[in-house]
Amino acid sequence: MHQLTLAEIARGLADKSFSSEELTRALLARIHQLDPQINSFISVTDDLAISQAQAADARRAAGESGALLGAPIAHKDLFCTQGIRTSCGSKMLDSFKAPYDATVVARLAEAGTVTLGKTNMDEFAMGSANESSHYGAVKNPWSLEHVPGGSSGGSAAAVAARLLPAATATDTGGSIRQPAALTSLTGLKPTYGRVSRWGMIAYASSLDQGGPLARTAEDCALLLQGMAGFDPKDSTSIDEPVPDYSASLNTSLQGLRIGLPKEYFGAGLDPRIADLVHASVKELEKLGAVIKEISLPNVQHAIPAYYVIAPAEASSNLSRFDGVRFGYRCENPKDLTDLYKRSRGEGFGSEVQRRIMVGTYALSAGYYDAYYLKAQKIRRLIKNDFMAAFEGVDVILGPTTPNLAWKIGEKNADPVAAYLEDVYTITANLAGLPGLSMPAGFVDGLPVGVQLLAPYFQEGRLLNVAHQYQQVTDWHTRAPNGF
Ligand code: GLN
Repeated sequence: MHQLTLAEIARGLADKSFSSEELTRALLARIHQLDPQINSFISVTDDLAISQAQAADARRAAGESGALLGAPIAHKDLFCTQGIRTSCGSKMLDSFKAPYDATVVARLAEAGTVTLGKTNMDEFAMGSANESSHYGAVKNPWSLEHVPGGSSGGSAAAVAARLLPAATATDTGGSIRQPAALTSLTGLKPTYGRVSRWGMIAYASSLDQGGPLARTAEDCALLLQGMAGFDPKDSTSIDEPVPDYSASLNTSLQGLRIGLPKEYFGAGLDPRIADLVHASVKELEKLGAVIKEISLPNVQHAIPAYYVIAPAEASSNLSRFDGVRFGYRCENPKDLTDLYKRSRGEGFGSEVQRRIMVGTYALSAGYYDAYYLKAQKIRRLIKNDFMAAFEGVDVILGPTTPNLAWKIGEKNADPVAAYLEDVYTITANLAGLPGLSMPAGFVDGLPVGVQLLAPYFQEGRLLNVAHQYQQVTDWHTRAPNGF
């Protein structure tokens, strides 16, 4: 049963081939048996899952239907879940039980999903490798010595290992798309404002966006349908109607204009990845797409701009974790200053502390104009590049990552080496655009992803292109050995 996709599960539940409770019990057993190898869960919520599954079965028996009714999923551990530990991968929040559900969690629960647990992640979503979690590194099911990508590496590893069909994740600079690429999944980062951030613990508020991680585009459409929509509780959520994402999957790609940014195929890209990306372009051409070379002249400045803006916002967002109001408090503080200093010094890991220091520096009176303001100007230029490019093309295609998954520990000595891995993903966050990564092959047994970007609110177009590609390729159907 663990091989089933969300769409197949929906059909199986509808025609009563199995109940949600049977499926849920089977997947929980699989998580307990296999997760110790990959460490993808921080909390497994057996009791909640069984009771939600029974409730979903009862709703179906009473005549209700719905693609997500009884579907087992998990949430990245930065979505607040009422009464359940919401750790954000940090010692700071190890004992924090959220007093309410995030909007995404509440909406999916209403649609009838079953929460199997909370997935592991880089501390406060800062990272590209899932090595900075207080709960230990997550391992890539395709090769246990390698990272699964981050920061949603727990969600990605769990889905790739067939512990469950799909999971929620978040993407501030690539954290849905990059782990999707490194574990051979399909992951979608929606347009900024499409999915409510209420109850999603903030890293960098102007960049953060929740979205689905699954094996297929078809499943991402189902999960996104349950997540997307206006939320009056999130002032940055946008009041735009949510289309039927599944309905857009089967549109023909005849005449679709795909732009290949020349800056995304230059130095720094592993040539073996470039070959697979070009092979995917050939497949899309066979489906009727028309290929054009385009230019995004300012994207070379994306990494420095992002690594000023994201830490600046993080330094402000994380000031609330002070040992008084939330989470960890040091033992026997001498006075208030000692309480703040030691609670934060002991509660946060080194990458989080590094970002807080960088961000505080960039926002300080003497350096604000030189760093923060300049980074915001670059952000606008990057957005303008995309707006100009989308005048001539319908989607932009390129690699998701410049390199294959690296070995656990390999980049620990040099944080900047890991930052550089985000080169192709962070631009979508800076511009607020939707982006998707889909499986496009393997090099030495390690997965490779292709990234698609589209204009604002064109999630349906991204899912359509990926779904059509998945009708003529089988990369997304392959499972890692041992799982
Ligand atoms: N790797 C990027 C960072 O560390 C992106 C993380 C994310 O998208 N949450 O900030």
